[in-house]
Amino acid sequence: MSQSDETTVKVSNNFLRAIIEDDLANNRVAGKVATRFPPEPNGYLHIGHAKSICLNFGLAEQFGGSCNLRFDDTNPEKENQEFIDAIKDDVRWLGFQWQEPVHYASDYFDQLYEWALHLIRSGKAYVCHLTPEQAREYRGTLTEAGKNSPYRDRSVDENLALFEKMRAGEADEGECVLRAKIDMAAPNINLRDPILYRIRKTAHHQTGDKWCIYPSYDFAHGQSDAIEGITHSICTLEFEDHKPLYDWLIENLPVPARPRQYEFARLNLNYTVTSKRKLKQLVDDKVVSGWDDARMPTISGMRRRGYTARALRFFCDMIGVTRSEGIVDVAMLEHAIRDDLDKNAPRAMCVLNPLKITITNFPEGQVETLNAPAHPVRDDLGERQLPFTHEIVIERDDFREEANKKYKRLVLGKKVRLRNAYVITANEVVKDEAGNIIEVLATYDAATHGADPADGVKPKGVIQWVSATHGKRAEVRVYDRLFLHEAPDRGGEDFMQHLNRNALQIINDCYIEPGLADAKPETNFQFEREGYFVADRYDHTAEKPVFNKTIGLRDTFVDAPIGSEAAGGE
Ligand code: ATP
Ligand code: MG
Repeated sequence: MSQSDETTVKVSNNFLRAIIEDDLANNRVAGKVATRFPPEPNGYLHIGHAKSICLNFGLAEQFGGSCNLRFDDTNPEKENQEFIDAIKDDVRWLGFQWQEPVHYASDYFDQLYEWALHLIRSGKAYVCHLTPEQAREYRGTLTEAGKNSPYRDRSVDENLALFEKMRAGEADEGECVLRAKIDMAAPNINLRDPILYRIRKTAHHQTGDKWCIYPSYDFAHGQSDAIEGITHSICTLEFEDHKPLYDWLIENLPVPARPRQYEFARLNLNYTVTSKRKLKQLVDDKVVSGWDDARMPTISGMRRRGYTARALRFFCDMIGVTRSEGIVDVAMLEHAIRDDLDKNAPRAMCVLNPLKITITNFPEGQVETLNAPAHPVRDDLGERQLPFTHEIVIERDDFREEANKKYKRLVLGKKVRLRNAYVITANEVVKDEAGNIIEVLATYDAATHGADPADGVKPKGVIQWVSATHGKRAEVRVYDRLFLHEAPDRGGEDFMQHLNRNALQIINDCYIEPGLADAKPETNFQFEREGYFVADRYDHTAEKPVFNKTIGLRDTFVDAPIGSEAAGGE
């Protein structure tokens, strides 16, 4: 079953939904809601973007409207096609479909250029030759008004000629910019003659060498919304201060529609970095293998790790949408993942650190195929076949020569139940010269498959096992948190110092149930008592199975009685 083809979790009530309902009721949007998701293709998307995607696509879906995917590509130096492709892949994988075609702010460069001329002709924009340092000085501060640029009163004709020179490549980068003429004394600094165009002599991934001037985010964004007929332009709170500029531009340009901007609080997760710039540093410094390394909080990293799209959508719905900044506990995300996998992931057995058990009363060379349900309650997931043989392996930790009563696994002279199979008794220990246990000789009770032992002595524990001769070998990758500090990038310190450099442990030669080798990449499983695992998206093959640990079970270790729900799990 693919994870993203299930119906989308409905977007719960939130203030944006209320605004849209009101707009529809009062006929403010001509009956159709149009939203957009506007990533800059300068990195891979992360968990914060997932929130924005679920919100924008979710609202459009809910109101029978549409959602555009628009690449906000006004910074050619930092952007590229790899990021564009990855972003499209992520949105689709999350289970959303944008209104075709994909849009790019760069589709509108001609129109934006025309609108820049319009502002110049109406005396509302000018070419400014202040150096960046001077411009900063002229801008003023939060408490002090700015000063007018000496270039502010250039004539329309002079501005037209200078802007044309900028466009034609006759001015150097940084030599001049086009600014809106608004108000250098405005309390909102964004209105102090903001930059509309700057010179960047860089080829663009979409428009090639056509342009050497590029519009600013502020000049491109609202106008792109208007061109696309976006009704609700939803962004994060840091853009709240840009809204007066958003509105000023819409009001002063002959745009075809009147979009409105609404802000919500971004998602912050503890133990997690959600900034593309910082994630890029992890990739560039080779701390991780790439943007889609399973340790990364990117959508593609979480996918690789075995998080499901359904669980991510559920998480985004669960955390809600508000206007107040907060920090979400990563445990909520983990809860959403476990909850989904518990319901949907087939069960299987693996042995990560094997100890050989020889069943002395089960003939060598004989194979008995035992059937086991793939899931404790989901009959639709079917059954699996487990070969039971003379030699099996169990977890080394599941055997002790002596133990107190709390230890409910295999102890010398005692019994334990092999999950989905028989009760065995450990009779003898084989050690190497150094005294390490290398093998345990045991006997099985043939009457105990699904039944209690005839002598009435019930084993207290259930452990997993795999046939030593018929099981397959696998590489298992076990992950820990990438950051050990709960606020790795807040508080001014370098986030790299909180990095957990041991967040990946590779275990070779684990034993897995034979059927698991044929699992399709990206299939999720619960390895009983170990946690949730996924067949690696890229590296898993039948010849060389590779599984990634997605997440542990609820707690570290809980012994559970046979037949209880947890027995399957822990
Ligand atoms: P970053 O800070 O990681 O570089 P960004 O905001 O610059 O992110 P964009 O590509 O511009 O990245 O973001 C696309 C959309 O995703 C924007 O509408 C932005 O508001 C939203 N977004 C980004 N980060 C978050 C977050 N943590 N929570 C919710 N929405 C987010
Ligand atoms: Mg951005």
